[in-house]
Amino acid sequence: MTRQKMILAADALLTMDADNRVLRNGAVLVEDGVIAAVGTAAELGAANPGVETKALRNAVLLPGLVNTHVHSGFLRGTAEHLPVWDWLTQHINPMHRVLQPHEAEAASWLCYAESLLGGTTTVVDMWRYMEGSAKAAETIGNRLVAVPYVGEHPDYNYFDTLDMNEAMIEAWHRKADGRINVWVGLEHPFYSDDAGYRRAIEMAKRHRTGFHTHCSEARVEVDGFIKRYGKRPMFVFDDIGFFDTPLTMIAHAVWLDPEEIALIAGKRASVAHNPVSNMKLASGIANVREMLDAGVPVGVGTDGEKENNNFDMFEEMKVASLLGKLRYDTVQPLDSWEVLRMGTITGAKAIGLDHEIGSIEPGKRADIIAVRTDTPRMTPFFAEGPYFNLHHNIVHAVRGGDVTLTMVDGKILVEDGELRTADIQAIIAEVHKVAPGLFERRAAFLAANQGDMVQWTTSN
Ligand SMILES: [Zn+2]
Repeated sequence: MTRQKMILAADALLTMDADNRVLRNGAVLVEDGVIAAVGTAAELGAANPGVETKALRNAVLLPGLVNTHVHSGFLRGTAEHLPVWDWLTQHINPMHRVLQPHEAEAASWLCYAESLLGGTTTVVDMWRYMEGSAKAAETIGNRLVAVPYVGEHPDYNYFDTLDMNEAMIEAWHRKADGRINVWVGLEHPFYSDDAGYRRAIEMAKRHRTGFHTHCSEARVEVDGFIKRYGKRPMFVFDDIGFFDTPLTMIAHAVWLDPEEIALIAGKRASVAHNPVSNMKLASGIANVREMLDAGVPVGVGTDGEKENNNFDMFEEMKVASLLGKLRYDTVQPLDSWEVLRMGTITGAKAIGLDHEIGSIEPGKRADIIAVRTDTPRMTPFFAEGPYFNLHHNIVHAVRGGDVTLTMVDGKILVEDGELRTADIQAIIAEVHKVAPGLFERRAAFLAANQGDMVQWTTSN
């Protein structure tokens, strides 16, 4: 069998290895989807005569970004200026009641296309009817952690079920050459009963997958846990047994106190930090510095299209950096290297895939992106010397639209800023075709059920 080899080279390469090594005139030898060697273009070219070199001018290479918390969807711009609980009851839950599988699939095509175009190679998507999402990822080429949006409680029986979640695991976990992983998901602990908890934990253990849920996003949740259980949420998680799963990733974790942070630091737990969403829904500012210092892997996530309103991980890293500085005005803020690690290798660790992705190092899957440097916002750019500013520019200046090439598993999916694996205009047209129907059914549901849209904060 002939092996597929190529060398990808650019003006600079950020490895995001343990030393944050940067190589001037850096290059990667990609062989059958795997990073076989990393060095300068001259070194790799000399050692591999006859192997084609793709030399990118005015570009830097870095690992593909890892978006640790996303919801596919197309409510973008239609549910604005509301705090999280009003927003859930008036817009989001009614949408979930009427969503159909073909609409969910159209949303995932849109989400993964946007992600790849902006340099995100791995998407942790909590979404519905995820067979369609898996098919989208299989074709379009991104790496996916599919997490069904499960409600296992009579009040939330319109969400996906644990039966659907298990069927997804059996059909898709580690499929598409290992690009697709399927975890056990729960919208929120209060969307399940005790039997649901037991089954979710047992399922994650038996299939050796991660578990993902939202928690401690809004302050009101902490009161809800104390009212129900007499304890703060992370201690309740510990009692329930969520930390007995192979890995529990908590979305948001805004209101964790020092004792909760110390607790999860000793568990198989991680956090998806969603700064734009937390600002937009007026949720609060997470204690990211304390969580990182305690050793909790904290990744960055955009959250859904309706709470962001885009999937631009460069923007998200910038906001994570800025919000960290705003939060910690008197102590050490999040520095650019740390934030860039959160968007790459620490994010990979938060989802248990740091042995496969997150840095440009031999043996890892070839998930690599190229960012333009010949733009005003990247100028001046110094990849070495006393004025080295590459990491600051990547975090604070670059936009997703500056990504010219996106490679996953050694396959080029975006080239010259264009998606090669699917027709982006057809994806957009499909969403335009199906969106009005979803909005109409939701409006009809709301008209017929006025006053019946309770959320747990008022009903329990
Ligand atoms: Zn979310």
